[in-house]
Amino acid sequence: MNKISIAIDGPAGVGKSTIAKMLAEELKYVYVDTGALYRAIAVFLSDCGISPDDLQEKRIADLIRDIRVEIRYEDGTQHVLVNGTDVTGRLRTQEISRMASVTSAIPCVREKLLDLQRELAEKYDVIMDGRDIGTVVLPQATLKLFLTASAYVRAKRRYDQLKESGILGDETLSSIQKEIEERDYQDSHREIAPLKPADDAVIVDSSDLSMEEEIRMILSHLKEKIR
Ligand code: C5P
Repeated sequence: MNKISIAIDGPAGVGKSTIAKMLAEELKYVYVDTGALYRAIAVFLSDCGISPDDLQEKRIADLIRDIRVEIRYEDGTQHVLVNGTDVTGRLRTQEISRMASVTSAIPCVREKLLDLQRELAEKYDVIMDGRDIGTVVLPQATLKLFLTASAYVRAKRRYDQLKESGILGDETLSSIQKEIEERDYQDSHREIAPLKPADDAVIVDSSDLSMEEEIRMILSHLKEKIR
């Protein structure tokens, strides 16, 4: 039977993962955070001594040729393993965000992850979030969404989140906004699979919407698609 897939694309910090997790829970679909896969490769490359300021593409191609990237779910939470090692706890630093953003522009890195993402969508009903899900990974997705919000709104949300969780380090609102803007630029100007809405994506500007309003809107779009 054909599986249902919801593709959620959009820039850094727009709330894709929060929305995707809530939807997955509501619909009992599998949530696939594809950013975590790019981050896992970034951790691996960083451990191999690759610097984001000196990307040696040939060396990166050699390094990742035979690595195994896997996803496992433990208590409903996605874990990413590289060559059998769970790197999930190391994915969310600013250093890895930057490394993932630059290394994800390299074609062999994207190729490495394409089959894994498509296999998951063949096996399960999925909500998959990323940058190129509607345009490249799942062009036949049941519903494609592209979330947007201004860089300021996104930075403020992340800042508040970090503060609330007690894990705000040296970051300031403006350093977070700068990092978000740099990643947006990098992600939308790369040659391969740039961040952009698919032609048939529903654009959702979340700047003035609450989570509940966003979820309601998305569920009504889904209902129309699978009616
Ligand atoms: O979504 P997240 O911020 O965790 O993604 C980290 C980085 O991985 C992004 O800045 C982007 O460069 C890359 N990415 C991508 N394609 C995806 C998901 C993430 O290029 N589908």
